[in-house]
Amino acid sequence: MNNYGIDVWGDDNFIIKDGKVCLKYGNEPAIIDIVNTLQDDGYKGPIVLRFNHLIKKQIEQIYLNFNNAINEFEYNGTFNAVYPLKVNQFPGFVKHLVKFGKKLNYGLEAGSKAELLLAMAYNNEGSPITVNGFKDKELITMGFIAAEMGHNITLTIEGINELEVIIKTAKERGDNKPKPNIGLRVRLHSLGSGIWAKSGGINSKFGLNSTELIEAVGLLKENNLLDCFTMIHFHIGSQIHEIHPLKKALSEAGNIYVELRKMGALNLENIDLGGGLAIEYSQFQKSSQRNYTLSEYANDIVFILKMIATQKKEKEPNIYIESGRFVSASHAVLVAPVLELFSQEYSEEKLKLKEKNPQLIDELCDLYKNIKPSNALEYMHDSRDHLDSILTLFDLGYVDLQDRSNAEILVHLIGKKAISMLDSSHLVRMQKEVQEKYLVNFSIFQSLPDYWGLGQEFPIMPLDRLDTNPTNSATIWDITCDSDGEIAFDANKRPLFLHDIDVEKEDYFLGFFLVGAYQEVLGMKHNLFTHPTQVCIEVNKRGYEIESIIESQSIRDILEDLDYDIREIDEKIQDKISSSNLIDEKSKKNILGELFIFMHDNGYLKNI
Ligand SMILES: *Cc1c(COP(=O)(O)O)cnc(C)c1O
Repeated sequence: MNNYGIDVWGDDNFIIKDGKVCLKYGNEPAIIDIVNTLQDDGYKGPIVLRFNHLIKKQIEQIYLNFNNAINEFEYNGTFNAVYPLKVNQFPGFVKHLVKFGKKLNYGLEAGSKAELLLAMAYNNEGSPITVNGFKDKELITMGFIAAEMGHNITLTIEGINELEVIIKTAKERGDNKPKPNIGLRVRLHSLGSGIWAKSGGINSKFGLNSTELIEAVGLLKENNLLDCFTMIHFHIGSQIHEIHPLKKALSEAGNIYVELRKMGALNLENIDLGGGLAIEYSQFQKSSQRNYTLSEYANDIVFILKMIATQKKEKEPNIYIESGRFVSASHAVLVAPVLELFSQEYSEEKLKLKEKNPQLIDELCDLYKNIKPSNALEYMHDSRDHLDSILTLFDLGYVDLQDRSNAEILVHLIGKKAISMLDSSHLVRMQKEVQEKYLVNFSIFQSLPDYWGLGQEFPIMPLDRLDTNPTNSATIWDITCDSDGEIAFDANKRPLFLHDIDVEKEDYFLGFFLVGAYQEVLGMKHNLFTHPTQVCIEVNKRGYEIESIIESQSIRDILEDLDYDIREIDEKIQDKISSSNLIDEKSKKNILGELFIFMHDNGYLKNI
């Protein structure tokens, strides 16, 4: 039975029971039951489900593994973590994260003014805030204000010019006021690996090289700010596939740390290793995307830093990490209904055979009647050849449109029958000929932008019918008018099989998993499809509770976001309807009412 690789990517978060994907937590509710409840309450179209307990689990796992490593190696530094807001800033996620992180002193990382403001508003008292990325005077001033408010904040400097602004700001605001800590981002020569590896290396966009580090320490000393210098920081890229590059980078950074301390930076006590902790997106063991576990990651980091500090007789640094993807990816599941199967057009009822058919059509009928497992492959190939011949005859004017339609239907029906008779190894080989297109009510640009932009895969599976074998090799089409809005069947890398269903009679929902990191905020409003409805769910011993729902934006709100004056649109539509001579007076009001309802609803399809 196909379990869609749940044992590869699922991290023990999901379980299949009675043919349904269920949460492996509390009373183990089925996702499809949650979705059906929401549908009954009128929420149609795609939905992002957020599972609170999965946010908590990821945070606790990180602290647990690092604290175990610290105990095991008798490490003298502390472990600390901050969540980089850029990975998912949505309130349904961030507010839970802050709540669960409180007892662990889990902090926030900001990369812009807006994110810093969020951090200043929501961070737990005393938990660290780090600020990375390019900064202007205004952002630096916000950092000083945060320190004055009592936040434990570190501004990480990306270049000497930022340090100069900090020095100036410190002078302006006066010596006796609390100041933010200063971190220096180091430019390592070590490189990451994978599609997000651009953040490391000597040519990376960020950080200070060795000459600049020496210059920075000099400047800090000169201006009596060396005491504020507490941290060095690096980040070699996201979704680090293998542990080796990280270990190399860490050795490099560890040695920079001891060198800087030997230069007199005695308050330098922290190393921030950035993010990059990978998660497993693959549905197939053979294409697994990381070669290490969290416990290996934690052990390696603690061990390497311990070794360097011991060798160089320096204090063991406190460890900071900024994992974003690892913390947020698993909590969100996008659920989207299948609207249509392409081949549903080709049913037996649609066949309109004539009294007298061309010989090739009669032969197709025989193939369809007599197909059996032992000849299925052969008959299917024969039927394709017949179709080619009929299309040629059509071009030459020897058969008519009805014959052509009959041939197309018969070939599809033969294909379908053959599929049901063949085993999966044959199916994979024949996928090109037999694949089915599933039209799904969502936008890839909005909900899986990394698939569109980078080819990043995400686990996809139906939410029920998992006790029956899926027989269709499936290509997924989204509802945008863009041919890029497709996840094509890929026989070699990630063959996806789905069930043969009749959408007119039954619902069929697909789950897109691990979409909680980056996808929501990178999502684009292509065709003006906006963020789907979001639902926060608390799973418990009794079942589950729907904690909050944020509905997808209405069409009016989307247009307003584009800076249209929505009243002007109202007026224009009203004018056009009331001045039309095509619509009778009585209907005008009704038509306006109808449009009004649509405009206040979201733009996803309700059904077809
Ligand atoms: C993006 C980013 C992170 C988060 O990386 P993940 O791969 O999501 O863990 C952490 N630190 C910095 C500086 C970043 O730019």
